Amino acid sequence: MITSDACIKYIEIRSRLDSEIAQLQQVHSHQMVCKKQCSSCCMNFGVLPIEAYAIAQELFQTHTPLLAHTVSNECIFLQTNMCTIYKNRPFICRTQGLPILYNVEQIYELSVCELNFTSVDDSYFTEKNCLFMDTYNYELQECNHVFIKQNQQLNIIPNTLISINDIPSLVSYFE
Ligand code: SF4
Repeated sequence: MITSDACIKYIEIRSRLDSEIAQLQQVHSHQMVCKKQCSSCCMNFGVLPIEAYAIAQELFQTHTPLLAHTVSNECIFLQTNMCTIYKNRPFICRTQGLPILYNVEQIYELSVCELNFTSVDDSYFTEKNCLFMDTYNYELQECNHVFIKQNQQLNIIPNTLISINDIPSLVSYFE
């Protein structure tokens, strides 16, 4: 039996992230060409166990059948260029397309999709119009830590990342 207290916190952090993303999307609406069915970021990547659990829960509740890999290294949840777990997609998927700031050894590093912001230079970006992900990532890590601690029966080693494409086969593990 999974103790899912940490999931309440996870959803709360995710809601705050979504609100900030919505604001930034408005701010940058003229610079963003991201649109529905753009899937160039949808690769197989690693997610934290708490994110995998949230997705597995959705698959369990909706009785989603096991998906087949079509293209190697493409995310298994991408079907006909649409995300089939859109509501529960991981944090990183929610931020796609926006300018994101990371603090790397006391220096801000900017990450921007090359399809967007093609008519501006670096001076366009400020601390106020970029998404500062470190705080969210820190909160997510903390939440994940609590999830692992409260569910020791899962035997998850701290700092484990789960391949997003493995999640459909882990649904019963997370039940
Ligand atoms: S979870 Fe959805 S948005 Fe994220 S990589 Fe997979 S298909 Fe794309």
